[in-house]
Amino acid sequence: MKIIMLGAPGAGKGTQAKLISEEYGIPQISTGDIFRANIKNNTELGKKAKSYMDQGLLVPDQVTCDLVVDRLAQDDCKNGYILDGFPRTIPQAEALTEALKKSGTAIDYAIDVEVPDQVIVDRMSGRRACPDCGATYHVKFNPPSREEICDACGARLVLREDDKPETVQKRLEVYHNQTQPLIDYYQKAGCLFSVDGTEHMDMVFMKICQKLGMDR
Ligand code: ADP
Ligand code: ADP
Ligand code: ZN
Repeated sequence: MKIIMLGAPGAGKGTQAKLISEEYGIPQISTGDIFRANIKNNTELGKKAKSYMDQGLLVPDQVTCDLVVDRLAQDDCKNGYILDGFPRTIPQAEALTEALKKSGTAIDYAIDVEVPDQVIVDRMSGRRACPDCGATYHVKFNPPSREEICDACGARLVLREDDKPETVQKRLEVYHNQTQPLIDYYQKAGCLFSVDGTEHMDMVFMKICQKLGMDR
């Protein structure tokens, strides 16, 4: 099963992608996580990506697409995957469609997690991320069991630099201009499934499972 997560920054894509990954045993591929890992390790890719990310802008399509195409060719992707944060532009979506066509396949579901902008701003200020393993929490909606400590690996949680309110506004603008058109793109491709992302995360997950399960 090949799944794409769509939605604004902070809509809950990562949260749902992780749950789906565990339920269906397919890898979660987060371009944001890959970029952050590269920044941490000070790689060439990390250096390229950092200045865009800090400004709330998208990393250029070519760099991003090359990265994803390589990742999808790895062995663990042969039974499917969940793309979390890719594609984010029409050219990225087209590149993905083309790459899949070569192997005679296509995306099964594009899941759009719908959340209005006002809700997003609140969510982002409460998001806490693990700098070591990438796990995410929310101070109010999904707190770790020990305050500010990652349940999964014990590292101290951080507020991501780009989750500060000024950058969040910019990211929302970029989302509306460059990413939202993908909803239409996948609607036309016949694989769009929209879910109300303002509901409790367990409810959102249940609705996604119902949809995926129904068609299995
Ligand atoms: P995205 O990957 O779309 O940027 P995340 O999954 O990281 O979003 O979620 C953003 C923040 O909102 C996190 O702090 C997360 O714990 C919290 N969150 C996710 N889903 C919900 C939900 N349904 N209700 C409330 N908070 C949520
Ligand atoms: P969020 O969880 O809030 O949706 P991500 O972790 O997915 O954020 O992405 C963080 C940043 O990484 C983005 O603001 C952007 O700069 C960069 N990025 C991630 N995925 C892509 C992509 N597909 N294309 C271009 N830039 C990307
Ligand atoms: Zn961790």
